[in-house]
Amino acid sequence: MNLKKLVIIQDTLGTFYKSKNEHLFLCPFCKHHKKKMSVNVDRDVFKCWVCDTKGGISYLVKRFGTSENQYQWELITQKIDMSSIETMFENKPEAPKQTIALPKEYVCLAKKGLPYSAREPFVYLATRGVSRRDILYFKIGYCETGPYKKRIIIPSFNEDGDCDYFIARSYGTDWLKYKNPPTSKNVIFNDLLIDWNNSVTLVEGMFDALKIKNSIPLLGSTLNEKTKLFKKLVTRQPKIYIALDHDVISKSLKVISTMIEYGLKVYRLDTSKIEDIGSVTKQEAEYLKENSTLMNVENMLKLQWRN
Ligand SMILES: [Zn+2]
Repeated sequence: MNLKKLVIIQDTLGTFYKSKNEHLFLCPFCKHHKKKMSVNVDRDVFKCWVCDTKGGISYLVKRFGTSENQYQWELITQKIDMSSIETMFENKPEAPKQTIALPKEYVCLAKKGLPYSAREPFVYLATRGVSRRDILYFKIGYCETGPYKKRIIIPSFNEDGDCDYFIARSYGTDWLKYKNPPTSKNVIFNDLLIDWNNSVTLVEGMFDALKIKNSIPLLGSTLNEKTKLFKKLVTRQPKIYIALDHDVISKSLKVISTMIEYGLKVYRLDTSKIEDIGSVTKQEAEYLKENSTLMNVENMLKLQWRN
């Protein structure tokens, strides 16, 4: 908490040095050449030893900080109820981890000596820009018969390597594009494959996830504080890219503002000129990522206005 405050004050006033219990900054009022403004982050007050200006730090941040500094300051000093964050990490007895069996008709397309029926799903995947390497990496398969008849199956594995979900996308004539397995969607899709020490991209669906490395599909769910994914993002604090469809921008903005409240660094990909991430090439997706915008209060407001 104090560290976060110091970061904001440092952003506002420049570097400081620590002497005993004091944090000393340059005074923006008398502009004395030595760092003489003492800041007490426990009590949120300041005092300059030279010109004797004193007051609350929020005043300093309001007067000399950027709007981002001000927003962050408000977040940590008043608006956010820190107890809600505490309860998020309470040691509640963990629910047993969800595991699920793949449909018994599932055939992995990475397997050698595939039957003739594998041709159709292969062609379908090729038209969606899915490579052989992707098929191997994600253990993509299909069902020729059974309840998931003529569906591509993409399994999800939890951090222990157990299957906890799968998506079943029709490649045949079924009007229902996706058929969900009878289990909770509150999973981190393919957590096993996620490198949490690197940036993570949040996308809409699995076919979007195939286009961007280290990405997680939300599977049409909203991302609120109660989900496993959100909790893990808060705990691991990776750099986050959001690449959700543009037609649900209000959903993106809601997700982003919740993340900013929890101190996460979020970049937004501009998807307004494409259908969705799944429809572009990996290179195009990478380009959008490179040109993404770091989200803060100002550009959030602009987006809300425009849409
Ligand atoms: Zn002063």
